[in-house]
Amino acid sequence: MEVENEKKRGLIIVSNRLPLSVEEDNGSYTSNFSSGGLVTALSGLTKSIDFRWFGWPGMAIKDPEKQKTVSDVLAEKGAVGIFLDEQLAHDHYNKISNSVLWPILHYQSGVIFNEDAWKAYQRVNEIFADTVASKATSGDLIWVHDYHLMLLPFLLRERLKKQGKNCPIGFTLHTPFPAEDFWRALPVQKDLLNGLLTCDVIGFHTDEYKRNFTESCCSRGADSTKEDQVHYEGHEICVGTFVVGIDPQKFNDSMQDPEVQKRIHELEEQYEGTTVIIGVDILDYTKGLVQKLEGYDHFLKSYPDLKGKVTLIQVAIPSRKEVKEYQDLEKEISTVVGKINGEHLIATPDGTPLIYMHRSVSFTELTALYFISDICLLTSQRDGMNLVASEYVACQQNKHGVLVLSELTGAASFMSGGSVTFHPSSVQDLSDAVYKALTMNEKEKKERHENLREFITAHTRQVTALIAHCILIS
Ligand code: UDP
Repeated sequence: MEVENEKKRGLIIVSNRLPLSVEEDNGSYTSNFSSGGLVTALSGLTKSIDFRWFGWPGMAIKDPEKQKTVSDVLAEKGAVGIFLDEQLAHDHYNKISNSVLWPILHYQSGVIFNEDAWKAYQRVNEIFADTVASKATSGDLIWVHDYHLMLLPFLLRERLKKQGKNCPIGFTLHTPFPAEDFWRALPVQKDLLNGLLTCDVIGFHTDEYKRNFTESCCSRGADSTKEDQVHYEGHEICVGTFVVGIDPQKFNDSMQDPEVQKRIHELEEQYEGTTVIIGVDILDYTKGLVQKLEGYDHFLKSYPDLKGKVTLIQVAIPSRKEVKEYQDLEKEISTVVGKINGEHLIATPDGTPLIYMHRSVSFTELTALYFISDICLLTSQRDGMNLVASEYVACQQNKHGVLVLSELTGAASFMSGGSVTFHPSSVQDLSDAVYKALTMNEKEKKERHENLREFITAHTRQVTALIAHCILIS
């Protein structure tokens, strides 16, 4: 790909939401980037690149004066806000991105496609394309993120061409990409593939997702004669696997923090003599929370001698609370939680088999919980990657706790050597996997932990960002 040879390149990151919060206080606005994530990773590259982040600022602002004020505040942080009408943003985000694309990408059937909402999806992608193209300079690298913006590369390419600008475009999908047969069920699948096939680089989390995507492209006229390359209408696209990592140092540092240490001691005292299983998941049907609880119930029934000696602490981070399916899911989970505690509770102060927290926890609490837990249980029915798996490993240098991981997570493609994997739809399989983890000897735990640790330190967020950057400029 040809790009102008500039000393300090411009990198434009585009995501649906800006990774910062904008707050209003008496008519004046402030904004702050959320810590960690891609922002931290990219800040390590600021010597060679100059990056700007484009996206919706998370609030509807109609008044042009106020939009200007917010834009100025965002500009101080290197961000460019794309303002959307409230209804349009709602239809794009809730009715297509989260109600159609998210389930299809995670192999959920029964999706209802809404033509009007699809127009909103197209419109939002066009608005993004107009803004990004007008502010991009020839030679800038443009890196688009995720399923909310799958039409954007094509729309951007059209506009950039008209404006005589030449910019490499990359796209990263942060979810699975399903098998061709499943993907075809989506009436607009061709439009979405067309949207992506003007990219120079397209990244997936695993080889399986990359393969599925390539097959879908080939069945609609593209060809792929070389590995990691797709040709479409005279254009060559590099398709790659970019493992998404965490920042293990952030967890190491946190565990040295006196506040975290204090919390660790409190929890260790509280759960002395108990095997603690931790689960941390966004409350989403893809995470298999009901199946996790049913599998745990099966485990407790299968091993009655362990009653009172095991506790599952499940953090369910609230998500999409305004959507009915998510409200129903929360009710279903609460019912199963009540049933398990009603059936297996034993009359001692520490005899609660299940602690369910339907809320976010602080980073202090999260790292302390990861640290004290003997097992981490993740039961996703489908999951692009699953970062909790890596975060747990990052906090287990002392204890060598066991990762019990659904084989249908992206993480399992890389972490199956060190974790105990199982099929999340089988309560028996889940129960056996937990029992295996619980009875594993120290030597095996240590070996498995070291295997996983090697993976998380070789694939940090920083490394991922650096690789993607290098591929884009090469
Ligand atoms: N997390 C959070 N709030 C909490 C507890 C955890 O945001 O109260 C974080 C957790 O540390 C992890 C993320 O949520 O980084 C969940 O990521 P994962 O990849 O497991 O799931 P995703 O939401 O990306 O599907």
